[in-house]
Amino acid sequence: MKTINKKRITPILDYVYYDKQIMKYENACIGLGANSLQYGSSVFGGIRGYVNSNQQIQIFRLKDHYKRLITSAKIMSFDYTISYDEFKNIIFELIKINKITKDFYIRPFIFCDQTFIGPKLYPNSYDLAIYIQTLAANTSTTNGLNVMISSFVKYSDNSISTKSKVGGSYVNSMLAHNQAQVCGCDDALLFNQNGYLAEASVANVIIVKDNQIFIPETSDCALEGITLRTCMEILTYNNVTFHRKHIDRSTLYSADYILLTGTAMMITYIKQLDGRKISSDIGEVGKLLQNQYWKIINNEHDLSSQLLESYYEHK
Ligand code: PMP
Repeated sequence: MKTINKKRITPILDYVYYDKQIMKYENACIGLGANSLQYGSSVFGGIRGYVNSNQQIQIFRLKDHYKRLITSAKIMSFDYTISYDEFKNIIFELIKINKITKDFYIRPFIFCDQTFIGPKLYPNSYDLAIYIQTLAANTSTTNGLNVMISSFVKYSDNSISTKSKVGGSYVNSMLAHNQAQVCGCDDALLFNQNGYLAEASVANVIIVKDNQIFIPETSDCALEGITLRTCMEILTYNNVTFHRKHIDRSTLYSADYILLTGTAMMITYIKQLDGRKISSDIGEVGKLLQNQYWKIINNEHDLSSQLLESYYEHK
């Protein structure tokens, strides 16, 4: 008999939250007919936790991730909610029971394991699950990426909400990312149906050209990334101006620097796009963002206290 795969590709920590309780990963089983498995009817988040040199555990922008998760569920009309304090307490319990000592990644998701057939929404059939993974060292932050423009187009906000992290919608990212890998690239940029840049497969984009900073318009179908928001706050903190703008292909090919931002890759840069050299380093704006982001997560920045949630053990 096949059991839940213990040799997971990325190690998931032993204890998870499922069915309103904390249990072993192996016991948290979802049925074959689960609506979320069959139709992608879930919303999810991805959150980083850091263990600093003083062994303090800090979670980056937990409240903002919580809000995006709950908003995603609302946009999808999923019948589920939870207060921030309850959500935070579950995560704190998981940190404690998993005895976390290294940087980690939290994956909360709201899903439906009812077995009704058909892409329908049912009341009272959504629930929250959370697991935590350890993080592999990320080298892309320093090396830069070789990226291509995907032939897959980003879906429009009138097809699936682009402001909601919907499980099923990630097939779009998967197709673009896989195409890039097959073509020997690290990742892909996706244009929207109007021919403007939306984002990368799981990251937002910042363009630096002629000493100006451009970010795609909010209506250009990118997710509202929390790392991008942090970058904009860092720029504002440093009195550096940026503009929201439709970004076309020519602007990308002629950019001085193209930065990617996201929870997974943090802040990195594109060294080559469609075989064209963009830059051999991250540039001044990228350095400013990387340095100050690093200070924020290490609790050494004026913005740290409002952006980090400190873990404390319940007595
Ligand atoms: N766009 C997409 C499609 C993503 O999945 C992600 C990762 N969540 C991002 C952008 C970056 O968002 P964040 O900075 O909140 O991780």
